[in-house]
Amino acid sequence: MSDIHRLRALLERLDGKGYKAYQDIRGVYRAGQIELAIDHVQGDPFASPSRVRLMAPVSALNLPEHASEVRRMALENYLARRARAIIPGLGVRRTGTGKSNQIFVDAGEQEVMPRSACRIFGDRVELRLSVGLPAAGRTILGRSAAELLTEALPRLARATLWLSDLSEAEHFVDVVEDAHALREQLRPNGLVAFVGDDSILPRESGVSQRPLKGRVVPFRSPRELRVELDTPNSGKVVGMGIPEGVTLIVGGGFHGKSTLLSALARGVYDHVPGDGRERVVTRADAVKIRAEDGRRIVGVNLSPFIHDLPLGRSTRCFTTDDASGSTSQAANILEAVEVGAGLLLMDEDTCATNFMVRDRAMRELVPQEAEPIVPLIDRIRQLYEEAGISSILVVGGAGDYFEVADTVIWMHEYRPEVVTSRAKEIASRYEQHVGSPPDAWRPPTPRVPVPASIDPTRGDRTKVKARGTEEVGFGYESIDLRQVEQIVDPSQTRFIGDALVYALRAGIIDGKRTISEVLDQLEAHIRELSIDVISPHSGHPGDYALARRYEIAAALNRLRTLEVRQ
Ligand code: ADP
Ligand code: MG
Repeated sequence: MSDIHRLRALLERLDGKGYKAYQDIRGVYRAGQIELAIDHVQGDPFASPSRVRLMAPVSALNLPEHASEVRRMALENYLARRARAIIPGLGVRRTGTGKSNQIFVDAGEQEVMPRSACRIFGDRVELRLSVGLPAAGRTILGRSAAELLTEALPRLARATLWLSDLSEAEHFVDVVEDAHALREQLRPNGLVAFVGDDSILPRESGVSQRPLKGRVVPFRSPRELRVELDTPNSGKVVGMGIPEGVTLIVGGGFHGKSTLLSALARGVYDHVPGDGRERVVTRADAVKIRAEDGRRIVGVNLSPFIHDLPLGRSTRCFTTDDASGSTSQAANILEAVEVGAGLLLMDEDTCATNFMVRDRAMRELVPQEAEPIVPLIDRIRQLYEEAGISSILVVGGAGDYFEVADTVIWMHEYRPEVVTSRAKEIASRYEQHVGSPPDAWRPPTPRVPVPASIDPTRGDRTKVKARGTEEVGFGYESIDLRQVEQIVDPSQTRFIGDALVYALRAGIIDGKRTISEVLDQLEAHIRELSIDVISPHSGHPGDYALARRYEIAAALNRLRTLEVRQ
């Protein structure tokens, strides 16, 4: 390791040379207690920026206590966010060509989740940045680079890591730790979700996840579902506990049903202080389900929901390039359950009506034997009673569901009321609408992905590229993730693309393991070797956010070349 002054001298010598000469600056440099590692140097000013790390010994810093995994994860998130906030004030002028003098840290937005932008391990804290090495055209701006790398970055490290006041960092870590504690208490209390009183659920707009400001009604739990949970940092917290079983969220249009469900869907993640959803937590195995017509389905045993197609076509190993609304929704449920989902979240707005219900008149006209679709309403109790899978459904129109619900929550002017007994009483006045399930619930048929059908290469190069939260370019294919609603961060998409390649190259997808076993194994590798393990990059993998097994499976299931064996 050499002193940072040598880097300065080197950069001054490189001034005026061609961009390729920047390759010489790779290495690790010391500036007092800070180390600067230049791991990867970009090929030209427009290429993806260079990858550098700023490191310091934890023992030299004054950081909040972070012995537990949650607190460490939260602190890593905090430090990455702090670095991002400090960057604009460093006084680095964005002069030069392309990405010159750009400093970027992948710190995330409202959700807090394991990410690779900042890592604390052993006695080391490591901040991972992307920086654009400055150039005019293809000519190195050596003095500007020296300023950036030998002055601005050490200053960034000092300002980010040497906290003079711990209170903000402590608060951030405490809030995340509390959310985890709340989530851990769901199962022992027979709950699937919890919404703390005074939570702010609505968001600023359809494209912003920041809290709505102005006239907002804070959440208030209804007496019947009010529970009190413990937190390590805020004592007892009161809120609405949604019990296991089948729960309906009903109410008139615009009264806040979808807003509540969206908050629950994101409650599998923790949230930053000030988000409004810090105390909205959902079981970690909750999966948002919707209809997704046009998606591909491969080798799914759809028979629990769709059987005996016309002309004797079987649905036990069903493949289509263009699924209908009901078929896609059935597949989405079965695929989620295949990899372990324990709570299904559905909003009538985005469900296929003929999959959700069949009314009495229709049941009378078309006999059950002539209808391939077993509507969800006929299976939903069985899902819970025989497989332990709960569901939370937003229904505005399908009152038939009263009959099968354990809990009915009425959203009225953004306030929840419990109307279970009224709903049951109303249901009892009508003749039974719900058909009995045609057979016992059988767990989804496990599928084994065929390795040769998963090809991330284009020509002779691996080509995997994430585009926002919506798409992963995968070899010649493009995986459409627009309807996979619990992917909330572009760095998760990046993670998913590279995780699939890793699973392939590391022999985890081996033609023998089922999708669920592949995910078990992948999770084990990540647990043991950290999120970094999946990175194909030279230089640090500082722009991943962890995705859950459900979202990784969702991507694999949407790869249009995938082949499976049952
Ligand atoms: P629904 O699904 O019942 O039709 P939405 O959840 O879509 O209703 O909410 C309708 C509108 O009300 C949205 O614009 C949403 O941002 C707003 N909203 C939701 N909850 C609240 C609240 N607690 N306070 C203020 N506005 C809210
Ligand atoms: Mg709605």
